[in-house]
Amino acid sequence: MSFDVQAVRADFPILSREVNGKPLVYLDSGASAQKPQVVIDAISYAYSYEYSNVHRGLHYLSNVATEKYESVRGVIAKFLNAGSEDEIVLNSGTTEGINMVAYGWAMPRMEAGDEIVLSIMEHHANIVPWHFLRERQGIVIKWVDVDANGDLDPQKVIDAIGPKTKLVAITHLSNVLGTKVDVKSITQAAHEKGVPVLVDGSQSAVHMPVDVQDLGVDFYAITGHKLYGPSGSGAIYVRKDRMAEMRPFIGGGDMIRDVHRDEVIYNDAPMKFEAGTPGIVQTIGLGVALEYIMSLGMANIAAYEDSLRDYARSKLDGLNWLNVQGQSADKAAIFSFTLQGAAHAHDISTVLDKKGVAVRAGQHCAQPLMEHMGIPATCRASFAMYNTTDDVDALVDALELCHDLFA
Ligand code: PLP
Repeated sequence: MSFDVQAVRADFPILSREVNGKPLVYLDSGASAQKPQVVIDAISYAYSYEYSNVHRGLHYLSNVATEKYESVRGVIAKFLNAGSEDEIVLNSGTTEGINMVAYGWAMPRMEAGDEIVLSIMEHHANIVPWHFLRERQGIVIKWVDVDANGDLDPQKVIDAIGPKTKLVAITHLSNVLGTKVDVKSITQAAHEKGVPVLVDGSQSAVHMPVDVQDLGVDFYAITGHKLYGPSGSGAIYVRKDRMAEMRPFIGGGDMIRDVHRDEVIYNDAPMKFEAGTPGIVQTIGLGVALEYIMSLGMANIAAYEDSLRDYARSKLDGLNWLNVQGQSADKAAIFSFTLQGAAHAHDISTVLDKKGVAVRAGQHCAQPLMEHMGIPATCRASFAMYNTTDDVDALVDALELCHDLFA
């Protein structure tokens, strides 16, 4: 395996700092990942020397900024193996992407009683937009549970698709359990029933190679800040035929060709779905982040993270007072846990923080899953390509301290 984690770590300046007098052990990349120097430099350079608004200007800087910004569409298309860069809508992240599909594609097609199929482990970003449609037009959300290991049986999703189902909207990788979902099988079966599939790729695109054409999906949302890029950047892949079916969600400048008193003519897709001044520099930074990932090789990253997962799993399994939620065999290196005894997740994370170990505590924007598991909150250690077995050891040491304090 060709993956030099120390060289990767050296690319991320923040990893060399201390927190609370201890070396930083950053295990919260599932919430937002740190940024490599190339991304920081690209942002700084763009603002220092190449900044202007995009698409509108005729002057030099506007052309440079437009070229840089627009080139990212192609980078994302390559990263996801989309058929064309015209299938990439640039946006501020997954939340915007899914809302765009909810308003632009689903809303005009769904009536009272129509159904959408979701898994119970969706992030709120892939739940709340569908609640809007439930509240406003009476659609029905059908939930598919995970089993005790946190696995999602694709057949259960397929069985939930009925004559009234208009869309399956599903995560590719759970941000709480680390479970990977077989979206390819689900998509094949859904398409046989004439139902499109939207995939929330916020976590999966970070940890495994994604090929939207091979998966066959209709919509695939990604978010830049988890992909080592800037916050406020992202994209959604929309297959060409679905793009043609979608109506614009936000109106304003850039998404139009002509505006008159009593008529508006929209721009061609994908710009038709990109109203207003976009996150110019954020998007440029995302392009650099994705080039950085691709230079390391997503397959190499995934193989390295699998080895880290196996090491972490063996260490955490050795703590018989720790309950890890989500035991899927091929899960990503995302570990949500509780400690036996009364310690609240927030107290645990505070103690870990004192040791320099950053984890997330709470419901992880996945309340229906937490209700399903009957757990009010967990701590979550989410590993990224720059984490090491030393980070696992630091987590285990800090957890042992928690156990001593709270047992
Ligand atoms: N979906 C999943 C699985 C996530 O983990 C997240 C972020 O935590 C989101 C959606 C929302 O992403 P964003 O807030 O960047 O739009």
